[in-house]
Amino acid sequence: MNEILTTDHKLFLPFMERLIGNEGIEIKIDNDGEFTDRCNDDSLKYSEVILNTMSGIDVDATLEYFMANGGYCDCEVIVNVAGLEFSEALAVVDHIKSSPKSPLSIPHP
Ligand SMILES: [Zn+2]
Repeated sequence: MNEILTTDHKLFLPFMERLIGNEGIEIKIDNDGEFTDRCNDDSLKYSEVILNTMSGIDVDATLEYFMANGGYCDCEVIVNVAGLEFSEALAVVDHIKSSPKSPLSIPHP
């Protein structure tokens, strides 16, 4: 049975890492120190593409879960569903890369 990818799911952080990166909305810091991304603020298209590559995940139910938690577009999945500012999200991903063995939990909204 496929599962909903909730923020408690062990694959949520790896999913978020991909959503932040070049498979997803590509969060970057521009020359003015502002965060930029390529979310179209109108869909969960990058989330959907990434979820479809993950085995054991119920994609439709997960997208509904994201929307029920305020994630109506890809950047809102990070800000509203995960409850992280872009700067925090990047720090979480860096943390995973630098010390993959130490678990880091996401603060719940
Ligand atoms: Zn957005």
